[in-house]
Amino acid sequence: MSVIIKSPHEIELMRKAGRVVAAVLQTMAAAVRPGLKTRELDEICVKELRKYNAIPSFKGYRGFPANLCVSVNDEIVHGIPGNRVLQEGDIVSLDVGAIVNGLHGDAAITIGVGEISPEAQKLLEVTKGALMAGIAVAYPGNRLGDISAEIQAYVESRGFSVVREYTGHGIGYSMHEDPLIPNFGRRGHGILLAKGMTFALEPMANIGGWQTKVSSDNWTVLTADGSLSAHFEHDIAITDKGALILSEMD
Ligand code: MG
Repeated sequence: MSVIIKSPHEIELMRKAGRVVAAVLQTMAAAVRPGLKTRELDEICVKELRKYNAIPSFKGYRGFPANLCVSVNDEIVHGIPGNRVLQEGDIVSLDVGAIVNGLHGDAAITIGVGEISPEAQKLLEVTKGALMAGIAVAYPGNRLGDISAEIQAYVESRGFSVVREYTGHGIGYSMHEDPLIPNFGRRGHGILLAKGMTFALEPMANIGGWQTKVSSDNWTVLTADGSLSAHFEHDIAITDKGALILSEMD
């Protein structure tokens, strides 16, 4: 395993890619409503990416057929946009990757379609909270396992489970660089965090068990027990002052 340390200039370029991803997510989120087909989100996604002269990084990745991953309800990640119609009460995860000047941005949000149940609302809040809790312990001198353990503890202490078979990852010149960043782990274990490391943290949390299955389309990952799942992702850079979030608007 080799973790690629980024210079301040490279981090500034990644911040640009991250801003694009954040802007595209915001535009798609504003379009989500009951009656919308998920492929209409893909159309918005590619149009917005073009506006920023960004290259969609998911399209063609290991044969993935779209620019965007859309995962609804019990779908965890890697859902393919298509003719599915969003319904009032659904929760939908939008995951976008963009390449700007050769550097990658990759981020995800989960939002409700119209009015959602209190339990679904709690799942969204807990999953986002877990991401922010992981980010809060991502600073030099801590270890990778401190991030993983923080995310796991945040989710499990609130009664939900964290997905184990899919993880966060390093990011930069490739969408997936070393290291893998599980959303469960042990404090004090794993590599030492150092200035210039750039990660995509992405907790996936389920109301039921953590086990997953892959649909017959060979992409969409679902909860094995059919329970709801949420997913939030940010890119961060480790700095002397802690984590700098790359994938947010100014
Ligand atoms: Mg990712």
